[in-house]
Amino acid sequence: MAQAGEAQPDDIALRRQQVAQAFEPGGALARSVPGFAARPSQREMALAVFDAIVERGTLVAEAGTGTGKTFAYLVPCLLAGGRVLLSVGTKTLQDQVFDKDLRIVSRALGVATDVALLKGRQNYVCLHRLERAIGDRQHDGVEAARQLHAIDRFARASSTGDRSEIPLVPENAGIWHAVTSTQDNCLGAQCPRFEPCFVYRARRRALAAQVVVVNHHLFLADMVLRDEHFGQLLPTVDTVVLDEAHHLPRLGAEFFGESWSLGQVGELAADALAAGLRAARDGAAWVDLTRSLDQAARAVRAALAQAGVATGARVGLEALPMQGCAELAASLERLLRSAVQLGAALERNAGRDPELDLLPPRVQRLRVLLQQWGEAVERQRANSSATENGAEDSGEEGGNPNAPAPAAEDVVRWIAASSSGAQFHATPLSIRDPLLRARERTAQAWILTSATLTVASRFDAFLGEIGLNATTRRWESPFDFARQALLYLPDPLPSPASPTFAEEVADAAWPVIRASGGRAFVLCATLKAVDRVAARLRTHMEESAVRFPLLVQGQGTRRNLLQSYRGAHGAVLVGSISFWEGIDVRGDALSLVVIDKLPFAPPDDPLVRARIRQLRAQGRNAFAQYQLPQAVTLLKQGVGRLIRDERDRGVLMILDGRLLGKSYGRTVLQSLPPFSLTRDQSAACEFFAPAFAATASG
Ligand code: SF4
Repeated sequence: MAQAGEAQPDDIALRRQQVAQAFEPGGALARSVPGFAARPSQREMALAVFDAIVERGTLVAEAGTGTGKTFAYLVPCLLAGGRVLLSVGTKTLQDQVFDKDLRIVSRALGVATDVALLKGRQNYVCLHRLERAIGDRQHDGVEAARQLHAIDRFARASSTGDRSEIPLVPENAGIWHAVTSTQDNCLGAQCPRFEPCFVYRARRRALAAQVVVVNHHLFLADMVLRDEHFGQLLPTVDTVVLDEAHHLPRLGAEFFGESWSLGQVGELAADALAAGLRAARDGAAWVDLTRSLDQAARAVRAALAQAGVATGARVGLEALPMQGCAELAASLERLLRSAVQLGAALERNAGRDPELDLLPPRVQRLRVLLQQWGEAVERQRANSSATENGAEDSGEEGGNPNAPAPAAEDVVRWIAASSSGAQFHATPLSIRDPLLRARERTAQAWILTSATLTVASRFDAFLGEIGLNATTRRWESPFDFARQALLYLPDPLPSPASPTFAEEVADAAWPVIRASGGRAFVLCATLKAVDRVAARLRTHMEESAVRFPLLVQGQGTRRNLLQSYRGAHGAVLVGSISFWEGIDVRGDALSLVVIDKLPFAPPDDPLVRARIRQLRAQGRNAFAQYQLPQAVTLLKQGVGRLIRDERDRGVLMILDGRLLGKSYGRTVLQSLPPFSLTRDQSAACEFFAPAFAATASG
């Protein structure tokens, strides 16, 4: 079917009418989808998406929980025709849209659509590396051998090679590293298994399909490749739909930045050693060369430790002390020398083996990044020295508060340290320019949608982040929040500045958790608070002999904890940021959401600090235009866990005194759905009473 934008006006009008009719009572969806309820907001959104497709415009659409936005973009995409790229935030949603929603909508509309699912390469078994792993017998232990055997059996029978289809091998099993590929170690067209390769088969299918479902990582990786004129991963399409678009600014910054890690250096050394000994044993002293690289990488980690960079820390380069910079610069220089020596050995052996020939570009890329980091660290050392001298000269303490904000860099360099490694990032502070270039490269329609794009009904902050000219539309959730839900703000509200805040949160939440019979999520803004809140709740349970299954982040994977929560009626789950979004627990299994405080990003985080500095240097209000919108978006995600359909009922409890004590608290409250509000604990507890529930639902 021709894309609607190229069709005759009569045809466009007809298709628009079909879109509208699909959502009407007795329409295509109502006839085909059990339980489908016609919702005006869903129909309006579908028409807005259709218009954007016809005009090849940019639509930014916020649709509150329950609008049914997936159908609202799938129907117009399928009826408008043309090629479509659907990008979603998570693999789970990707599978759901591909396996379920697209099939339901195609069937309802009676439209045969050629659809393809494409994931990142690490999601597919690499046939070449699988053969190598079986042949090398390098895996450790009986369990790894069993898993390898299961993967081999699966690869022989599967048509997709998608690792999520092998339930026998856990997602986090170490063996996956040996049997999946990376951009660095894939042989591409040189590979003896190129023809049946799952990765390339999936890509070929995607290039030929009418509708391709990807996730934002792949979408952004493709955008970066095109931006740098390095080709493309994805087909060129007429319409791009970005669901869960609130992730775009953060993920975009990751993809348009440059990163390397000491772990990658270790992998490079291991690959060079294996390929060198196998294919060019007489070509160089591979053991010495790769050992030298490994040792130099360890010296970098030691230099970071010397500079006070602790395990788990995220530190901006500008926060490193002068002496720390000196030691880091020396260790990076040593690593660069080792990389140069290994690169020279590889060049001398060029052409002897395809896998050996994959290595020089990796070494070259590392050299470039090390040089850039070396120069940046030296610059920082010089700046620190000048600042220290300046401070001594002026004799000032704490700087001049009236001094103009320092000029901000467009890229922030920062380091994330783990127990034995470290990642080095150079992250752009804005994705506006590359996004604009991508938007202008082709005449496509772009639809960006999410349940959380506005602050107090305004799109300014999100549009400011993405820098695109767009039509904006917003639909409130169709749920009756005033009747289905209650916002409880205890009186008094604890102050997050209190040293016993976590315990005060648990104390205030406990009576309501008792009244709700568990069935609660306690969402903490920081990981640190999780254990303290959980410990206090445990004490309350012991003292009152009222016990609910208590599930705490860190006791298992997110997936396992959610499975346990769903399996144990009346559980209480205490978690941090990773539990604030992407979780759908319907019905009375989740009836209480407790939020400890407004989830402001820590101001000492290097990215947050740099962004604040940049906005201030531009004369803008960093709090109003960046910190508050970020916190509101995340808060709305957390709040969105409570009411998932028309029959859900529940209490939302927020314990942050700033909601009522600070002027911006009003903006936060205006950004939430229209809950009934109470300050009264007994009113909150009574909300769960069966009689009240019957009255309310009657
Ligand atoms: S082409 Fe790459 S991903 Fe495919 S089998 Fe070969 S090495 Fe593996």
